[in-house]
Amino acid sequence: MNPKMNKTLISGSTIGILGGGQLGQMLSMAAARLGFKTHIFEPSENPPASNVASKFTRAEYDDYDALKQFASSVDVVTYEFENIPTAALDIIETQSEIFPNREALKISQDRLIEKEFINKLGFKTASFCEVNSIEELIHAINQIGAPSILKTRRFGYDGKGQVKVHPSSKPEEIWKNLGEKALILEGFINFSSEFSVIGSRSKDGQISCFDPGENVHKDGILRTTTVPAHLTNQQKTEAVLITAKILETLKYVGVIGIEFFLEKNSLVINEFAPRVHNSGHWTQNGCTVDQFEQHIRAITGWKLGNAERHSDVIMENLIGDEIYKTNQLVEDGSIALHLYGKADVNPGRKMGHFNRIKK
Ligand code: AMP
Repeated sequence: MNPKMNKTLISGSTIGILGGGQLGQMLSMAAARLGFKTHIFEPSENPPASNVASKFTRAEYDDYDALKQFASSVDVVTYEFENIPTAALDIIETQSEIFPNREALKISQDRLIEKEFINKLGFKTASFCEVNSIEELIHAINQIGAPSILKTRRFGYDGKGQVKVHPSSKPEEIWKNLGEKALILEGFINFSSEFSVIGSRSKDGQISCFDPGENVHKDGILRTTTVPAHLTNQQKTEAVLITAKILETLKYVGVIGIEFFLEKNSLVINEFAPRVHNSGHWTQNGCTVDQFEQHIRAITGWKLGNAERHSDVIMENLIGDEIYKTNQLVEDGSIALHLYGKADVNPGRKMGHFNRIKK
């Protein structure tokens, strides 16, 4: 048995984080507040998390020596993105436990497997069809209809790897545009709103959820999250119970982000992310214990903190050149700014966010 298994970690232990973006940065800061050290593993140069972590290994995910060294230098491993190659996880697992577990990761990496898992639990998703060829795409459009959304099964994020299918769309063109990969066609949900629940489960099975947040996306990218969401108490309760069921079924440890559509007053699950989530950033200023600390507590075997919301909050992302608004935002003492320190400003790139307390 791995000697690091099932241990409750004490302050001073080291948490390994795969991925060094802003989520890794904010996880590292939360870990540091509890006296933990963090070691970031990330292929790119000077990622946001490297500026706040105790140690940074810059290496590719197929550099097995670097992965081994990384895993043996830490007491537990977690991650800030879900597209980690399986072979890298196999190597890490010989040296260290990984939380959230690989089952959760495997399901969330593939939109088809994810939808099948959710439906099997009795929860609603968009209707869907697997697509592996142009013939299957034509068949799927006949089944699901248009409008619908064609998505890559894997590696999609922030609306990337997806196209809307209209009644006038030419299947051959869309098939070529998406790169002839393994795809899924999803029925288009005419939602009245989108919201998400950030939930967490500890090693001993304690479950806690933050208040659902209402999300507004533009071009597939999250713009704002508002709490409280415009949902009835019954809808909030239902969303929290769904989250708890998913956490318990997966024997999950850590924070999860589950995205929902509200369609004609019924809850439809879009997807879940086995990690801290952009739509949970409001918790940094709206709760005593935020999603980042909650995740660190869970994966180190600690008790979860109080997820109760003490304030109404609007979280707004700073995307691309919106980062240049920072000078004005600094003048506004009523908002909490969170900047990621990214040097390159690209369209669609998340550069920071701010939380405005409403009361
Ligand atoms: P995703 O990458 O699947 O989270 O999609 C990004 C955004 O695209 C979602 O937050 C929705 O705003 C929109 N979207 C995705 N799938 C659907 C769908 N089946 N019906 C309607 N809108 C969708």
